[in-house]
Amino acid sequence: MSTVRLLGAADIRRLAAELDVTPTKKLGQNFVVDANTVRKIVTAARVTGDERVVEIGPGLGSLTLAILETGASVTAVEIDPRLASRLAQTASEQGVEDGKLTVVEHDALTVTELPGDPEVLVANLPYNVSVPVLLHFMETFEGLRRGVVMVQAEVGERLAAAPGSKIYGAPSAKAAWYGQWRLAGTVSRQVFWPVPNVDSVLVGFERAGEALGSEADRLDTFRIIDLAFQQRRKMLRQALSRELGGSAAASEILEAAGVEPTARGEALDVHAFFRIAQAVREAR
Ligand code: SAM
Repeated sequence: MSTVRLLGAADIRRLAAELDVTPTKKLGQNFVVDANTVRKIVTAARVTGDERVVEIGPGLGSLTLAILETGASVTAVEIDPRLASRLAQTASEQGVEDGKLTVVEHDALTVTELPGDPEVLVANLPYNVSVPVLLHFMETFEGLRRGVVMVQAEVGERLAAAPGSKIYGAPSAKAAWYGQWRLAGTVSRQVFWPVPNVDSVLVGFERAGEALGSEADRLDTFRIIDLAFQQRRKMLRQALSRELGGSAAASEILEAAGVEPTARGEALDVHAFFRIAQAVREAR
């Protein structure tokens, strides 16, 4: 295995200057300038040398190189053409073997095919689209067994929240459709350029062995989740009443699903939302 050299703060600034890139908020461009941090992410993801990794938003390549350092191969999906077009050269300059890195210039929110059949996701996600991008990847790339992503602290805490907690919400219940999520460490703001005005955390996930249900089941369940959390202070029989033909009809369906009609969405796990979706279908 060749020795891969990671990027430091001076390399990041030099590359950005060369490409005439001023980091934009719109694309969530906060680049990691600290080698320890990218190694910490890769260690948390337990990436090993024979694995196929997908990275969303490689930027100037800080994290990409740390993944490649393990010997794993990487498919990197980057929306910014200036960054996407420089990455292969950076990898080669830093000692990465040919053929280990594939760059896909695409919006990660809409990409539907990836070369290399990736099995692990590792990313420092663009913060403004982190949840939709994650859910899109879980849905579209079923080969993804596990991963670690860096997100804004509030988002990470929400993804990993259990029912009954104040921060449990639609993203928590939807993420749980796919498997188990956990917090996997915090990251200082000082390791980014530019320094963001939010804190970051690492979130890890393991996909469940078997899918909870079909794509139709998922869509129906996510619809109920959205309705339940659109009015999270309301009891479920009220929150679902318009969709289910009134509060009495909603109560009947909730009871058929084994859910208390006076409960609130924040108390329900994804299995309960799925049972409600099934009861709705049976009632129609
Ligand atoms: N991985 C790099 C690092 O750790 O230094 C950069 C991380 S930065 C937080 C987010 C990256 O995602 C940027 O490179 C940005 O251009 C890219 N990005 C933003 N929106 C994207 C999208 N919809 N699809 C793919 N990449 C996106």
